[in-house]
Amino acid sequence: MKASKMLISTLKEAPSEAKIASHVLLLRAGLIKNEVAGVYNYLPLGIKVLDKVEKIIREEMDDAGALEIRCSALQPKELWVESGRWQKYGPELIRLKDRHEREFCLGPTHEEVFTSMVRELVKSSKSLPLNIYQIQTKYRDELRPRFGLIRSREFIMKDAYSFDKDEEGLEVSYQQMFDTYDKIFRRCHLHFRPVLADTGNIGGNGSHQFMALSEIGESEIAYCDCGYAADVEKATSKIDTYQGKEELPLEKVYTPCDGTIEALEREFNFNAKDMSKAVIYHDFMNERFIIALVRADREVNLIKVVNESNSNENYIRLATDEELASLGLVKGFVGPIGLNNDKIDLYVDFELENHKGFLVGANEKDYHIKNAKYGRDFQGKLCDLRTVKEGDICPCCGKPLKIERGIEVGQIFKLQTKYSEPMNCVYVDEKGQNKPMVMGCYGIGVTRTIQSIVEQFHDDAGIKWPLNVAPYHAVVVPVNYKDDVQRGLAETIYESLKANGVEVILDDRDERPGFKFKDWELIGIPFMIICGKRAGEGVVEFKTRSTLEKEELGISESLNRVLDALEEEKKFNDAI
Ligand code: ATP
Ligand code: MG
Repeated sequence: MKASKMLISTLKEAPSEAKIASHVLLLRAGLIKNEVAGVYNYLPLGIKVLDKVEKIIREEMDDAGALEIRCSALQPKELWVESGRWQKYGPELIRLKDRHEREFCLGPTHEEVFTSMVRELVKSSKSLPLNIYQIQTKYRDELRPRFGLIRSREFIMKDAYSFDKDEEGLEVSYQQMFDTYDKIFRRCHLHFRPVLADTGNIGGNGSHQFMALSEIGESEIAYCDCGYAADVEKATSKIDTYQGKEELPLEKVYTPCDGTIEALEREFNFNAKDMSKAVIYHDFMNERFIIALVRADREVNLIKVVNESNSNENYIRLATDEELASLGLVKGFVGPIGLNNDKIDLYVDFELENHKGFLVGANEKDYHIKNAKYGRDFQGKLCDLRTVKEGDICPCCGKPLKIERGIEVGQIFKLQTKYSEPMNCVYVDEKGQNKPMVMGCYGIGVTRTIQSIVEQFHDDAGIKWPLNVAPYHAVVVPVNYKDDVQRGLAETIYESLKANGVEVILDDRDERPGFKFKDWELIGIPFMIICGKRAGEGVVEFKTRSTLEKEELGISESLNRVLDALEEEKKFNDAI
């Protein structure tokens, strides 16, 4: 490819909307272009990378026996009513009407469409198990689209759905997708970790996320050397062995302050481990209030509250001061004793179950109650509500947990019959009876994966694409395009690389050499072959982008360097 015809659109300055390196670099290198918040166009170099990542995904999915299809982004409301998600999905679902007032949504995911397709297409159990997938555009009206392709409102996802006769079949399909994801992300050269995950809006009873490790990741991962790893939304820890000092009768105490944990520690000398913290939520889908009670040095995990209370993440928020007042509660002084309101459900973290006595709010301004004990002084549903933090005890082996950050690039779910049952996606078993198919679903954020690779592979000069996903493998740059010798040598090298199957660019632009080099370093082409002063002697400068190492090499040596690297990469792929 000739650089002059490539619509190269590198930028000197980072657009102000970009806050993280990978977003800045994708924009500056001219791979993507912003349209409106959370919506991007892909330019020619971006499409090259997209194709590479999609090819890896296709090869591995096909290898696992999955079949590719492509569905429309436009989905009729009726399917979403059938699954029950038209109500539940919340404002992230982009809803629209056609000219006949018929309602649709732009698919944020495709469980309904695939389930309805399979219930029509599959008549015999002989077609099962079945795994179908697509690589397609998804729409989610994210509350805060940010970080470019990491959280956008329109993005490309690979989604796959498996259909099995029974649970054992699902286990096999799920494990196969787990292994396939492992291969895909390894071939993308990502540093990643699979972790146990919550099932969120998608539902079902088992899930893993694949996390690209990164400081800018929005997810926190709790992990242990023993192999335990879970998204903090899901992670558990062993209960702290500290269970208070001694059991004493209740004692009301005067605590005039703003009621925060810090004030109680500072002004009244209470220890956070001997206090409780009540967080009050309004579940406005079911018109009720939830009090989550944890030890005061803990944070409440909203996802755990949602799961325990069977509410919905999109329809729950912290109660306002007015709402508290309407319930007869006082901000900063809410406690579990004497709650007498059938609109309030109380959930208590396991860590407080056997605590000998702790401070609780007295439900009266400026008062707390000391020595409260679960079971003796109040009831409530015991459950795991706390957010795991660094140093908590691993639930598997007892060692301290560590925390790191990650970007969720993929997630797999055991859906079981969550969609097949309400949507009547059944097969006829040996006894002639209709049975719901047992489903799994498997997503990869294709465009998010691309940006995660950039986040992991860049330096001050630009992107350092791993060979497998680079838009082109090599670029040949004559220092002065007007110099016949330099141009002639560059063209020869360009042609022989092309003839050997290398994806190569010839920089035929009449620009200053520094300008050209900077462009390729920013774009991140793995190898640069520079034809300069010594072109007449058949000597070129060979630059490796990942290390920025420069060497003078002969012509065939420089060709072989690129070919050897591609051969190495092929071996790496084959070994996966
Ligand atoms: P998140 O928790 O980050 O919002 P999710 O769990 O809702 O994501 P899934 O429904 O599991 O996402 O979708 C499958 C994959 O699609 C995710 O693992 C992620 O890689 C990608 N993805 C989800 N939302 C977005 C988005 N707004 N922009 C880009 N990619 C996304
Ligand atoms: Mg997810």
